[in-house]
Amino acid sequence: YAGPLEQISPFQFRIPKDYREDMRVDGMIFADDALIGSIKADQGPEQVVNVATLPGIQKASLAMPDIHWGYGFCIGGVAATDPEEGGVISPGGVGYDINCGVRLLRTDLEWADVKGRIRPLVEQLFRDIPTGVGQRGSFAFTKPQLVELMEQGVSYVVGKGWGTDRDVQFAEAGGRLDDADPGRVSDRALMRGADQCGTLGSGNHFLEVQVVDRILDAPAAKVMGLHEGQITVLIHSGSRGLGYQVCDDFLAVFKDAPRKYGFTLPDWQLACAPVRSPEGQAYLGAMRAAANYAWCNRQLLTHQAREVFARVFEKPWQDLGMDLVYDVAHNIAKFEHHDVGGGVSKQVCVHRKGATRAFPPGHPEIPEAYAETGQPVIIPGSMGTASWVLAGQPGSMVHSFGTSCHGAGRMMSRTAAVRLAEGRRIDRELDAIGIIAKARGHKGLAEEQPAAYKDVDLVVDVVDKAGISKKVARLRPVGVIKG
Ligand code: 5GP
Ligand code: MN
Ligand code: MN
Repeated sequence: YAGPLEQISPFQFRIPKDYREDMRVDGMIFADDALIGSIKADQGPEQVVNVATLPGIQKASLAMPDIHWGYGFCIGGVAATDPEEGGVISPGGVGYDINCGVRLLRTDLEWADVKGRIRPLVEQLFRDIPTGVGQRGSFAFTKPQLVELMEQGVSYVVGKGWGTDRDVQFAEAGGRLDDADPGRVSDRALMRGADQCGTLGSGNHFLEVQVVDRILDAPAAKVMGLHEGQITVLIHSGSRGLGYQVCDDFLAVFKDAPRKYGFTLPDWQLACAPVRSPEGQAYLGAMRAAANYAWCNRQLLTHQAREVFARVFEKPWQDLGMDLVYDVAHNIAKFEHHDVGGGVSKQVCVHRKGATRAFPPGHPEIPEAYAETGQPVIIPGSMGTASWVLAGQPGSMVHSFGTSCHGAGRMMSRTAAVRLAEGRRIDRELDAIGIIAKARGHKGLAEEQPAAYKDVDLVVDVVDKAGISKKVARLRPVGVIKG
């Protein structure tokens, strides 16, 4: 990226809207001196500029410090559009993996309890939890069942006995978006989804066993049930083939929208349609259905992980204290009320693409239990470094439409990562530093090696110091299963 980047605070870089004639608002990247170099080396910032041209975009086209190149929109991107001003909805602003997200489970186990059994534990997780591209799971749903599942979200699978009320309450949006329209999900998408609910998927998706490494905010950690030395489980997955197919289907539907609704796009990957158009409404209905499917997927993964722990530690999972701390989406579009500047507050369509909601203390949409701490914000780093738990702060409502980062963010492409590995055995390297990694292939692990990602501690520093979300706990991996 060779365009302008004006540093306006220690944590913000602005791309003024006069940089390109077609920009409707500024671009704004949250980063610091330590991160801006690698951000500039990528085409992510130009994508921030492209997004700034979208009809109805409000305030600024934003990117979090984990920004990197993605399909149309950068990963780490946030854009809010106003339907009243012709604002658009864009599948590329949600991502192919609709409602990809993470959830954190706590346990009553300490590292001392698990240390001696970590290898069999990870091996059992790898045996029992389906991983890999197109892998079928142990749950299958008929078409009418899938329709119900996509309407009801996580309560549907909890109602079948695969979870608890707490699992529903401690998921973003209660694990269900209203106004899902399964009728807009194609038969091909349904077919792909029928036996994939409760499977991890490939590549970047994982289930990780971790140890709480450090507590940075003791009162907030206490509310979240976290303490040093404790074992936690982090699950990262989305809507599998079903969501992917929904995205693909609607990119095709939206191809003619610019001509039909009279706007132009700098990149056809930004394909979008006005929120208030039949095409826009159809996508929103399908996207919500896929999002609800993703919450069910993470719930079924949770159920399977609990069963494995129960088996390995010979105790019901309830006696192991395996409660959900929180579940957050990081690829989604939602309607929320936000201040768009000049003291004006209105309902906007917030696209979060590789970005996490980070609502502050007192926000009505977070569980009562977190009213004083703020919403837990769960940030995976990499399988060899660390991950973080943060809590949403008031600054997110001022600066970023209630949003924080979603990970460390890639620093190199998958191909470059494989080249860097040069056939090295990443699983053996991880083993040597006390992390047991199981995956279907060596190539997948090479693509996901820790060096492929930015330093998560630096990324989290930015969102913490910018007042968007504050550090609560640092988690270090001890075992991971990958797609
Ligand atoms: P994404 O949703 O963009 O695919 O991934 C989110 C983030 O997960 C990445 O930016 C990366 O920082 C993190 N990540 C990828 N693989 C792993 C892993 O195996 N373990 C952990 N803890 N984080 C990972
Ligand atoms: Mn995903
Ligand atoms: Mn993801």
